[in-house]
Amino acid sequence: MDIKKLVKPNVLKLKAYQAEEIHCKVKLDANESPYGFRVLHNVQTNKYPDPEAKELRTLFARGLKIRAENVLHGNGSDELIYNLITTFGGPVLYPVPTFSMYGIISQALDQKFKEIALDEKFDLDMDKMNKHMIISKAKLIFLSSPNNPTGNSFSSERILQIIKRSKGIVVVDEAYQQFSSRKSFIPLLKKHKNLVILRTLSKIGLAGLRTGFMIAHRDIIHEVNKVRLPFNVNSLSQKVAIDTLKKTRELKTRISTIVSERKKLFKEMSKMNGISPFPSDANFILFRVNNPDKIYKDLLKRGVLIRNMKGIAGGCLRVTVGTPAENNMFIKNLLQLV
Ligand code: PMP
Repeated sequence: MDIKKLVKPNVLKLKAYQAEEIHCKVKLDANESPYGFRVLHNVQTNKYPDPEAKELRTLFARGLKIRAENVLHGNGSDELIYNLITTFGGPVLYPVPTFSMYGIISQALDQKFKEIALDEKFDLDMDKMNKHMIISKAKLIFLSSPNNPTGNSFSSERILQIIKRSKGIVVVDEAYQQFSSRKSFIPLLKKHKNLVILRTLSKIGLAGLRTGFMIAHRDIIHEVNKVRLPFNVNSLSQKVAIDTLKKTRELKTRISTIVSERKKLFKEMSKMNGISPFPSDANFILFRVNNPDKIYKDLLKRGVLIRNMKGIAGGCLRVTVGTPAENNMFIKNLLQLV
C-alpha cells in the first residue's frame, strides 16, 4: 500500500521541522538556556491536569501586571501558533528569514502564506509589508521580535504601523524579549484589539516542560481557547513552571548572565578574521562566514554543536549563548578554524 497516496497534498509537500539529536560535548544549537532547574515534585499522576492551568496563568499574569483572563497556555508557544492559525486561518504573512514554524504550520493546515524578505538591516521592509498586507488580505501576521535567527529586534515604530494598518491579527512573538533592552509590546494590548503577544518559558531554562503563553484581548482568548486540546499542559509542567516562576531573583540573574555573556561572545567574534556576527537582542548570535558548512562540521568534530542556517539564512551559522565555560570552548575552537 502506498501511504503517500492517502496523504493530503499540502502535507506531502511539507518538510518536517529539523530537530535531530546530535551527540556533542557542548550543545549550542537550539537557543536553550544553559541553566536548568533540578526539581522533583509530588504530582498526582492518576488525575488529569488542571485544564485551564489557573494557578500557572495567574502567576504568569501577575509577573507582567496583566490579568489571567488575557492569558492562554500552550504546550510550548509552538502549539499556540498552531492554535492561532487553526482559529483564524490564512493568508498568513511573515518576514523572512524567521522562525520556520509559522510556515510549516500554515502548510500543515493547508493555509495560504506569504513570505516577505527583510531589508538589508534585517528590519521590516515597510514598502513590501504595506503592499502585501493589503494585496494578500492577511488574516494573521507573525513578527518575531527579537527575530530568530537574525537576533535583532524590529523597529518598534514599524511594528506599530503594521498593527495599526492591519485588518487582521498581528502576533508579536516575544520568545526572546527577556534578553532584549527594547520594551515589550504588552502595554499596547489595551489600545490595539488585534494585537497578540507570544511568550515562552523555553528560553529561560524550562524548554523541557513545553510551556508557552499567548497574551491577548479576551475576545481573542475566547476563540483560540475553543481549538485548544483540553489538557494541553501536563501536571508536572504546570507544577514545575509555577515553582520556577516564583524564583524571580534567580531567573533575573540568569538572564543578565546570558546577556553579558552574549556581549562578550559578540566582542570576541567581531575580532576574528572572516567572522561577521550580527548584533543580537536574543540568547544567540547569527554570524556570517565564508565556508559555513566546513566550520559547522569542524566544530562538531571538536564536540561543539551550533546551528547551520543553510536554506534559512544562507552563508550563516547561529550559536546559542551557553555557560561561560561552553562559550570559551566555542570561541577557542572557532579561533583555530578561521
Ligand atoms: N517563537 C520563536 C521565535 C522561537 O524561536 C521559538 C523556539 N525556537 C518558539 C517560538 C517556540 O518556542 P516553544 O519552545 O515555546 O515552543
